[in-house]
Amino acid sequence: MLSLQVRSYSRSFRQPLHTAHGRWEQRTGLILRLELETGSVTFGEIAPLPWFGTETLAQAQALCDRWPRHFTVDKIAEIPDTLPACQFGFGTARDRLSAKLPSEPPLSPSPADICALLPPGEAALTHWQPLWQQGHRTFKWKIGVASIDDELSLLRDLAQSLPPTARLRLDANGGLTATAAAAWLSACDRASVAIEFLEQPLPPDQIIDWLPQIAGQFGTPVALDESVATLQQLRQVQQQVNSQIVYVVKPAIAGFPQRLLDYCLEHQLDVVLSSALETPIGRTAALTLAQRLWAAGLPRRALGFGVDHWFIDDWVHCSEVDLWQQL
Ligand code: MG
Repeated sequence: MLSLQVRSYSRSFRQPLHTAHGRWEQRTGLILRLELETGSVTFGEIAPLPWFGTETLAQAQALCDRWPRHFTVDKIAEIPDTLPACQFGFGTARDRLSAKLPSEPPLSPSPADICALLPPGEAALTHWQPLWQQGHRTFKWKIGVASIDDELSLLRDLAQSLPPTARLRLDANGGLTATAAAAWLSACDRASVAIEFLEQPLPPDQIIDWLPQIAGQFGTPVALDESVATLQQLRQVQQQVNSQIVYVVKPAIAGFPQRLLDYCLEHQLDVVLSSALETPIGRTAALTLAQRLWAAGLPRRALGFGVDHWFIDDWVHCSEVDLWQQL
């Protein structure tokens, strides 16, 4: 038998983020503490992102409120696919107790394994330099925020200013038209620095029909992010498109971690694992997945986890037990 305790958290961003849902000032979620009769303790995190199609925090809280305080491990498999963040939180804690996942990663990723985010617009032209000095080699630049002519001209300047071994990811967050997306891919192919991919050029309801239309036309790959938030969506999309796609997956909202790992390995998916702005508890579980994928020979793409400095708190330096005690 296992026993469950749940505590909620709220973390303030240094600066509010702008999302499809409006201003986002605080990241809220739940931390689970599972204890075996033998005294072994493990933690899991529920970090929903409703605008990515997950449950809300209230729905996750409702599941925890209904959950028996004492239960057997089999009960965790009953959590439905409509609650993917809950599946991740409970699934992580379960897998750690059964030693399928170690509770801490054997090593923390170096800056070379982390993609650093550049500010939008012209500020990107100088902002990469201190990040490069810290050891980052992969950079993400958000596009689709200004006029396309201005941004394509900035891309040329940015590509020329970056060292030749740098890699650049462009993320449109679904904000381009088909014509603009083709212009971007063409510019990426001609850029003087390696463009790793163009991420989510069109919104999820348009991009699947568009991908076959550009097949074979461009050398720069397209990546999907908003289209593949949960494992359910990833499965649907992966069955419809060819294998040239890069999948950006946020493990914390993708459902049971073991199921995600098995699926990626079975289909040899080209994945980038990315943060859902979770605490170190969810982060550790997500990074452990990355290590499993890399160890199995899947492409070692830089992780989208360079976000710890976005928060006011210093939780990044906390152990899991310390973090729990602070809540
Ligand atoms: Mg993205």
